[in-house]
Amino acid sequence: MGKKRASHLVRQHEKVVNRRRDWFWKLAHQLTDQFDVLCFETLKLKGMQRLWGRKIGDLAFGEFIEILDWVAVKKGKLIVFIDQWYPSSKTCFHCGHVLEKLELDIREWRCPSCSSINGRDENASLNIKRVGASTLKLDGVRQVFPATVV
Ligand SMILES: [Zn+2]
Repeated sequence: MGKKRASHLVRQHEKVVNRRRDWFWKLAHQLTDQFDVLCFETLKLKGMQRLWGRKIGDLAFGEFIEILDWVAVKKGKLIVFIDQWYPSSKTCFHCGHVLEKLELDIREWRCPSCSSINGRDENASLNIKRVGASTLKLDGVRQVFPATVV
């Protein structure tokens, strides 16, 4: 590969990275305008991928979180990260029963304790919200960052 071609490729890559960063800023502003408190399950990229409608890597997620943090502090919004090992999908939001396991393709399950029908994503997001809210109350901290993300 000639020098010219190599530098062309570097420029192309820079363009892609810059475009992605612009989009991170936009998304960060959009989310912080829309919500006062944002709760994330750390390192679980599934939710973010759904939100973004495309595949992203760990690195891009870390970059986005940095940008989001900066914007949130500026606007006085809160970001809470939930322990990535917290079983948000397997815990019944209604009674707290924890399933031993829940296969990935199960979208809905009936709680063996209280008979509630739980939609996988809805139940998980309710649990994340609850844990996020209680984290804020208990610790009195504005933000909780696990060392693994930042
Ligand atoms: Zn239950």
